[in-house]
Amino acid sequence: MTVPAISGADTNLEDYDIVRWFEDIADNAAQVQTQILKRIVKLNCNTEYLRNRLGTEVLNIEELEPEVVESLYTSLVPLSSHSDLDPYIQRIADGDDSALLTQEPITMLSLSSGTTDGRQKYVPFTRFSSQSTLQIFRLAAAYRSRVFPIRAGGRILEFVYSSKQFKTRGGLTAGTATTHYFASEEFKTKQKTTKSFTCSPYEVISAGDYKQSTYCHLLLGLLFADQVEFVTSTFAYSLVQAFTAFEDVWQEICEDIRHGTLSSRITITNMRSSVLDYIAPDPALALEIESKCKELNSSNWHCMIPRLWPNAKYVYSIMTGAMQPYLKKLRHYAGDLALVCADYGSTESWIGVNLGPLDPPERVNFTVVPTFSYFEFIPLSLIVNRGSEYSLANDDYEEGEPLPLSKVKIGEQYEVVLTTFTGLYRYRLGDVVEVAGFYKGAPQLNFICRRKLILTVNIDKNTEKDLQMVVEKGSNLLSQKTKSELVDFTSNADTSKNPGHYVVYWEIKGNVEDEVLNECCREMDLAFVDHGYVVSRKTNSIGPLELKIVETGTFRKILEYYIGNGAAMSQFKTPRCTSNQVLLRILGDRTIKQFRSTAYR
Ligand code: AMP
Repeated sequence: MTVPAISGADTNLEDYDIVRWFEDIADNAAQVQTQILKRIVKLNCNTEYLRNRLGTEVLNIEELEPEVVESLYTSLVPLSSHSDLDPYIQRIADGDDSALLTQEPITMLSLSSGTTDGRQKYVPFTRFSSQSTLQIFRLAAAYRSRVFPIRAGGRILEFVYSSKQFKTRGGLTAGTATTHYFASEEFKTKQKTTKSFTCSPYEVISAGDYKQSTYCHLLLGLLFADQVEFVTSTFAYSLVQAFTAFEDVWQEICEDIRHGTLSSRITITNMRSSVLDYIAPDPALALEIESKCKELNSSNWHCMIPRLWPNAKYVYSIMTGAMQPYLKKLRHYAGDLALVCADYGSTESWIGVNLGPLDPPERVNFTVVPTFSYFEFIPLSLIVNRGSEYSLANDDYEEGEPLPLSKVKIGEQYEVVLTTFTGLYRYRLGDVVEVAGFYKGAPQLNFICRRKLILTVNIDKNTEKDLQMVVEKGSNLLSQKTKSELVDFTSNADTSKNPGHYVVYWEIKGNVEDEVLNECCREMDLAFVDHGYVVSRKTNSIGPLELKIVETGTFRKILEYYIGNGAAMSQFKTPRCTSNQVLLRILGDRTIKQFRSTAYR
């Protein structure tokens, strides 16, 4: 079989065609993968990186069977991490345009959000990156529209934001992957050719000031309220941010609609003029929105989305992994409206599509799209109860040999490894996934967590997911006993004194008695199930957990710190653990209460 080429940028694609294309490649996923690998190697075998590893083995690549290329490639090219590729990427950033990682010169670099592991990384970005973005959007939309058909000519209330693009020393354009995509021809194609249109013009998306853009997204979303078919953002965090901001600015927005004006808080000239083009005085609409808002305000904005956007069929965003803590708030705003999970990908490559729009975020999985990259999976098995023999350098996983996509087993966990069209070779992504099943020949993945440990003092090992579960227990107690809610959280392993201990920072909305917070603190201390932590706490080689309550707006300051350093609102993920001194200062300066867990088990 030859991989049926379909370009995401093909404007005449009907839903039916893209579904048929996907069913075909899913049917033949294993074969498609070997062909994709052969294509990547053929395109790039003369690059410095591959030449140094493959030698002369693939000089006659045209004549080699894809399976032979696969076996040569996986035996000669070692697994890599970002630090192995970094020297090449740096040379590219500095202007070296020889064939280092790819035959075609790389002209753009993406910044991964860096909020997952605290450090922003450059990753090559090419035309293929925006084409595959458009392609997965179309594919996912085709499956969604089977369940939630949307009206042609409708609108999308889309909370998307570009960050600034800048030039590297060698003159390459750098910025986040979403920013490059919004600036690409593919995004313009999508805006022109999909059935629905974003409410906001490009000037709002690209304004570079997320607060002003959010105001305009909300304002335009309300002007077109009746036409809005669904509400979306890249990550759920941006939706929660936007609707929380609305609680503060709704009166001002209503005034703008009433008088056909635009708040003086919008200072970016071209955004102002492009938004003003849409606005004309509409007192009747302002009155209608105002009365809905008064009602909503008295019920703590429960069901805000369906009340204000009555024709919206669903809310669509990444809600899994690091976004799970925002689900509760999102459900509060969405009421009974379906929450549909967006797809699984990274700055490095798209990975899987959600074929089951009706699956709730807790059960969703992502079917690997076998044309996006060549995927391998490192089997991971959890090592339990090794007690004090833990090696500090490793996490709790034992690794097997990387497997191709067709060899993974249902119920097993793996780390994802990518070989991309953009010059990453056997690149460890650092995500842990579990195989939930197969769709034809393509594995369906549950996202489990980032593999990296975030909380560790000595022999204890906790990932982002471990912390998330612990905080969930604490915050459940908070909502059982009070009307308050947890807005956001992060943590730090404080080893400045002996014994070291964990500090969990909470921002809370509402007043809570100290006694309840004390209980929450103890609940969290007891909720860590990691054997290393339990043993260390019992022997006091880790001190009692500390809960620090920070003042309202602290996490907004953290967001602003990241945005100020080039992160994009669209890709932002609150760091769940930090040792960054600036962040610790922001948190420390705003700590208003602190509690220490008392007697341990
Ligand atoms: P970025 O650094 O902004 O490229 O973020 C990519 C990372 O976000 C991935 O490696 C995952 O850890 C996470 N991510 C992306 N999509 C999803 C998803 N659908 N569910 C859970 N986590 C995701």
